[in-house]
Amino acid sequence: MSEILVLVEQVDGEVKKVTLELLTLAKSLGEPSAVWAGPGLSDAAAAKLAEYGADKVYNAAAQEVVDYVVAPKAELLAQLVADKSPAAVLVAATAEGKEVAGRLAVKTDSGVITDAVGVGEGFVADQSIFGGGVNVRSKVAKGTPIIAVRPNSTPPAPNAGAGAVEEVAVALSEAAKAARVVERVKQEKGARPELAEAAIVVSGGRGVGSAENFSVIEGLADALGAAVGASRAATDAGWYPHQFQVGQTGKTVSPQLYIAAGISGAIQHRAGMQTAKTIVAINKDPEAPIFELADYGVVGDLHQVVPQLTEEIDKR
Ligand code: FAD
Repeated sequence: MSEILVLVEQVDGEVKKVTLELLTLAKSLGEPSAVWAGPGLSDAAAAKLAEYGADKVYNAAAQEVVDYVVAPKAELLAQLVADKSPAAVLVAATAEGKEVAGRLAVKTDSGVITDAVGVGEGFVADQSIFGGGVNVRSKVAKGTPIIAVRPNSTPPAPNAGAGAVEEVAVALSEAAKAARVVERVKQEKGARPELAEAAIVVSGGRGVGSAENFSVIEGLADALGAAVGASRAATDAGWYPHQFQVGQTGKTVSPQLYIAAGISGAIQHRAGMQTAKTIVAINKDPEAPIFELADYGVVGDLHQVVPQLTEEIDKR
């Protein structure tokens, strides 16, 4: 069996779900080692990583690792690649994860695959490319495979590993210290799950009609315990904040269920959601392109359909 490095994503010391997914995936391919970048690894967090398969937990606890933007994480992983010769490195295909992956690929002279939605034997990855226009199966041909995997691609499953914690000293280059973090502003955490990680996403588009009407979308999302998303038409109109935009220039989501209400299904929107397991479209135009992609479609006015759906779900 071979070692696979998994870069841990965490918030305030709490391991994010995507990391548990990556560990589960890594466990199916080899021996996962979690890489904790920065201070704050608690016994509880280490135990969680072990529970989901980490045989080792590399703890790079230096404050410096989080004092600078992205580059230290790539240097830390490059150092571990040189020291441990892992079979592969897995990171989450988040904005930061993808940047770490790209930098790491350059540093280790390796190939990189981003937006993978599955990784199989021999590190062959199913990948969504060209803004989601094409799905391909690809394999890194040079160096250590570095693969950024989309959240929600693998259901997390406990499968205990040894979880041996090993301290790692990091020697950052001057180049890694080029951009210093001067302030961290916590985003208000709502009751809803985080968009990129949510198992269910309910998104609204231009068809929603106004900022006020987004309460209809939020109502359905809350009934389902889902995150709210929006098309660019809706965010550009100021109806919903930009951080919730799904698509090529917004967030990429891969939930179990994606409900698109009043969204036409433009290629740039599809780029961010077409790897969802099940897609439901609600649109009053039967010719809307979103129906080509949808597993289930409702032709109708979302202002009638969505509240009825919410009511039905609330009854259960
Ligand atoms: P529209 O295309 O106007 O569709 C609205 C839909 O709502 C229609 O199908 C209509 O039939 C339906 N509708 C109207 N009223 C109702 C009703 N009452 N009930 C039910 N259905 C109704 N877009 C993104 O979403 N994300 C991106 O990241 C993104 N990035 C882009 C990047 C670039 C470089 C470019 C050029 C464009 C990008 N776009 C992006 C924009 C994209 O091309 C589309 O313009 C956008 O996705 C359209 O949003 P929409 O589907 O909400 O609006």
